Amino acid sequence: MLTPHKTIGILGSGQLGRMIVIAASQLGLRTHVYAPDANNSPAGDIAHERTEASYDDHTALARFACNIDAVTSEFENVPASTMAFLSQHCVASPGQAALHTAQHRIREKSLAHDLGIKTPRFWHVTDSADLTKAMAELDGDGILKTCQLGYDGKGQVRVSKNDDLATAFAALQTNDAILEEMIPFQAEVSFLVARAVDGSLSSFPASLNEHKNGILARSVAPAALPDTVIHEGKAAASVLAEALDLVGLLALETFLTEDNHLLFNEIAPRPHNSFHWSIEGCETSQFTQLIRAVAGLPLGRTSCYGTWQMDNLLGEDMNSLETLINKAGLHVHLYGKSEAKTGRKMGHTNKQISGE
Ligand code: ADP
Ligand code: MG
Repeated sequence: MLTPHKTIGILGSGQLGRMIVIAASQLGLRTHVYAPDANNSPAGDIAHERTEASYDDHTALARFACNIDAVTSEFENVPASTMAFLSQHCVASPGQAALHTAQHRIREKSLAHDLGIKTPRFWHVTDSADLTKAMAELDGDGILKTCQLGYDGKGQVRVSKNDDLATAFAALQTNDAILEEMIPFQAEVSFLVARAVDGSLSSFPASLNEHKNGILARSVAPAALPDTVIHEGKAAASVLAEALDLVGLLALETFLTEDNHLLFNEIAPRPHNSFHWSIEGCETSQFTQLIRAVAGLPLGRTSCYGTWQMDNLLGEDMNSLETLINKAGLHVHLYGKSEAKTGRKMGHTNKQISGE
């Protein structure tokens, strides 16, 4: 168990890293942010120490490893070799299996399938001939995504039967893509589970999510859905965390079909935007739970006080900041980013929308 003054290393310097730093500080732990852009960054600005270096700089990584007692990453695209190196020195979250799987859409959907968790139908597509063949099998609308490095709806194109498939494929600018059937979902639901070093598990209440332009706009939790649906989603997240031998957090994004079945969309082995409401809404926030897991502390309780709503603040929303700051009962979180570009996540607000 890490005691006060031990140091948690954090790979990545964005808002998730920043909120991990805050949670660690509350538990008396120190933080060290390592990222290629660590200086003047949301996480780097408030960490006890920071290293600005690339993820494959082995000299800088070795120095970092000597300075930390556990390490976590705010994003799943850190090179698996970086985490492998650090995991020789200390507890690392997520470990290699979780990173390797979550970095590739075919790998994560194949794992779900192998574990009996239903996914949309999907095809691995490496050229436009593959796409033509897959679209013929799909026989409907699809969504073509890059297998790696996509986020916030980037690296995706929607495809229909009569589209020029060669143009659609070329637009992705990769030869490693996935075609998925387009799901006419009634809702998007995310689940979050924490897994401790001793293998114990703790689920958060589920979130109901609304996206705008591919970016999460709002989450409401606990999701008011039938118990069977909630149970199925929590069980799926737990089974995935166990299969990946994960220490830390695993978020699972799903689609709820019109006939109330969950379909796996993707996983993220880290804190998730749709659980930011847990900062005020849960007995233990997702960030505190992550710190507890990597620091070898017992997991906290995740009971929730009433129903909560989280709204993202994007660059274009910053004009209404003065109004938001003055609203009673609204918890405003800002990430300290100076440039309010359109679509850029600048902060979020949490509010309780119904009592306990
Ligand atoms: P990202 O990594 O960008 O979050 P996702 O695969 O989660 O990528 O896709 C972003 C959003 O696009 C989803 O939250 C959902 O709204 C929509 N979407 C993705 N895949 C499908 C699908 N197969 N059917 C319907 N909508 C989808
Ligand atoms: Mg997603």
